[in-house]
Amino acid sequence: MLCERCGRENYKHVVCNYCNRKICNNCLKSSKRVTKTEKAFICKDCWSDMKKRTKYKRTMKEASTSRSNWRD
Ligand SMILES: [Zn+2]
Ligand SMILES: [Zn+2]
Repeated sequence: MLCERCGRENYKHVVCNYCNRKICNNCLKSSKRVTKTEKAFICKDCWSDMKKRTKYKRTMKEASTSRSNWRD
């Protein structure tokens, strides 16, 4: 399996939620659990894109909001 961002061979890959490329751990900028089963991944390229980064941060916010709603 080759990383679609840097081309290096990688054993374990994740898919970036914003460009849908299979990326290695080195190219992964950040990951966040959204729900119990879902995780959001963002690569370094998408992180430098302000629109995508905002979207990623908003995803995190929604997740924490719904968690607090569930608690109440
Ligand atoms: Zn890579
Ligand atoms: Zn990406």
